[in-house]
Amino acid sequence: MNKNLRKAVIAGNWKMNKDRTEAKALIEEMIPLVKDADCDVVICVPYTNLETALNLTEGTNIGVGAENCHWANSGAFTGEISALMLKEMGVKYVIIGHSERRQYFGETDETVNQRVRAALDAGLKVILCVGELLEQREQGITEEIVSLQTKVALQGVTNEELKNIIIAYEPVWAIGTGKTATSEQANEVCHIIRVLIEKLYGKQAADGITIQYGGSMNAKNADELVAQYDVDGGLIGGASLKASDFAVIVNAASK
Ligand code: PEP
Repeated sequence: MNKNLRKAVIAGNWKMNKDRTEAKALIEEMIPLVKDADCDVVICVPYTNLETALNLTEGTNIGVGAENCHWANSGAFTGEISALMLKEMGVKYVIIGHSERRQYFGETDETVNQRVRAALDAGLKVILCVGELLEQREQGITEEIVSLQTKVALQGVTNEELKNIIIAYEPVWAIGTGKTATSEQANEVCHIIRVLIEKLYGKQAADGITIQYGGSMNAKNADELVAQYDVDGGLIGGASLKASDFAVIVNAASK
């Protein structure tokens, strides 16, 4: 992290977990534990918990995000939620391109780009996920894959709009598997992404953009991961479901 240049952001991704009662209990436990954070704190929750999360976090330092949004503003897209709908209810962030969306729901780099566009147009901050599969890492094409995903996702995004984008480097083989990338691996790819951003948008944009690591980050390994120069916080799945663990990670990024 280099806090002089950019913001560290710790964001929880609850995935499809927690009913309303459980969400309320988790957020109430979390609020006092993260209130003194010296980094941005975000929780991305299932759609059904957004209202609860927004009400409970009002006046706190916790921002609320959704886990996806559609690219159209409205229309015949049964089961989908638009970026405008999220914005209207007070949501600030949205995760786009998570590997579980790519893997299980047919998300492509092109639809990720469309969703990014819609989210920016609606005034949301985007947490854009990119990352390679295990076989791609083994083939030595991590840089190519991550660069392609990032480039396509950002097509049509201006320098000014980039200020509303956080990139989360999430190696797919490390998500929910308990296998964390080493801090060197995490830093190396976050650096590759930063160099790409410099090529596309210039040095100031590259210095200023928040690039998180995500993939089995937890209370034990967070310190080392967020201490890396190019790792500006984390996107946290499993460990964000326990307030005390999430708070340890927030504290690690607050140092
Ligand atoms: C994620 O879902 O973005 C994630 C990083 O999950 P986990 O921390 O559980 O690996």
